[in-house]
Amino acid sequence: AHSVHQIQSGQVIVDLCSVVKELVENSLDAGATSVEVRFKNNGLDSIEVQDNGSGISPSNYESLALKHHTSKLAKYDDLSSLQTFGFRGEALSSLCALSTFCVITALAEEAPKGKKLDFDSSGRLQGTSVVATPKGTTAVVEGLFEQLPVRRKELTKHIKKEYGKVLGLLHAYACICTNVKFTVKSAMPKGKNATVFATKGNPTTRENIANVYGAKTLSALVSLDLQLDFQRTAIQNKDADDSHHKILVRGHVSRPVFGEGRQTPDRQMFFVNGRPCGLPQIAKAFNEVYKSFNVSQSPFIFADLVMDTNAYDVNVSPDKRTIMLHDSAALVETLKSSL
Ligand code: ADP
Ligand code: MG
Repeated sequence: AHSVHQIQSGQVIVDLCSVVKELVENSLDAGATSVEVRFKNNGLDSIEVQDNGSGISPSNYESLALKHHTSKLAKYDDLSSLQTFGFRGEALSSLCALSTFCVITALAEEAPKGKKLDFDSSGRLQGTSVVATPKGTTAVVEGLFEQLPVRRKELTKHIKKEYGKVLGLLHAYACICTNVKFTVKSAMPKGKNATVFATKGNPTTRENIANVYGAKTLSALVSLDLQLDFQRTAIQNKDADDSHHKILVRGHVSRPVFGEGRQTPDRQMFFVNGRPCGLPQIAKAFNEVYKSFNVSQSPFIFADLVMDTNAYDVNVSPDKRTIMLHDSAALVETLKSSL
């Protein structure tokens, strides 16, 4: 049973990005307005995510990291109209199987005192101790994948690239989340904590972009606000109350500079209803339109696709990172002509 749990966990937590995604989404689900992510040795030694959210109630301690424990899913129906990021109760349980995992948490009424909760590899609570901590929760992941030596070796080998990818993901969260202060810090062994980037809890994504990428990048951007409307295919039509997809594409893109222009570094972020995700077909559509204008540099793209939850499926992969858009070919065509 132990190794089965390990294998399943390895499908939920596949890399550094999954760790950060799961923990940050838990913080956002808990209503945090401040999220701080700290890496030691690029995440190889530890990854910590601290928030000022609700904190965890003592009645939840025992079952917190047990498989399929979630406080977020009231009934099965909710799966189709998902509002919170998490819902399967697999992240913490998986992290227990794949690292040395602990949680420090305090409810508003407990702070500045709280509890440190240690879990064993099967997610059972091993012990609690009193610690000083502000309201909110800190999740601490040490020695990721040490239980899976081959994967640990791979992670170590590619850590620079993995760390780069994780920063990209954190840029995306920091830009899309308005009114949330994001801070990312990094320390090398024996080195001091250095701030990698930080946002200020801004009310707009524009200000977030300025904090993350600088005012100069922001000044090269124009805002994007498209309303796409196209026919659904017959298959999706049967239980839909509308025969059309109505999708908003909102965000910021670099001005199409003709020929020799200002260097726009390769920064492209896509979201579905505010959730960062890779959308290769959508990315391709944008880049092709820019190419058709003879823009040599790859554009800056920050695009949030706002659409009905029945227009896509997030439950196709255990790590929930792959999003399947229904009618994606029609969407791409409509998007290209609107752009
Ligand atoms: P899920 O997010 O799918 O519910 P997780 O394994 O990610 O499952 O988390 C299990 C439970 O732990 C959550 O349902 C929530 O009750 C609690 N939890 C996890 N992280 C936090 C946090 N940062 N703040 C408050 N509660 C948390
Ligand atoms: Mg979760």
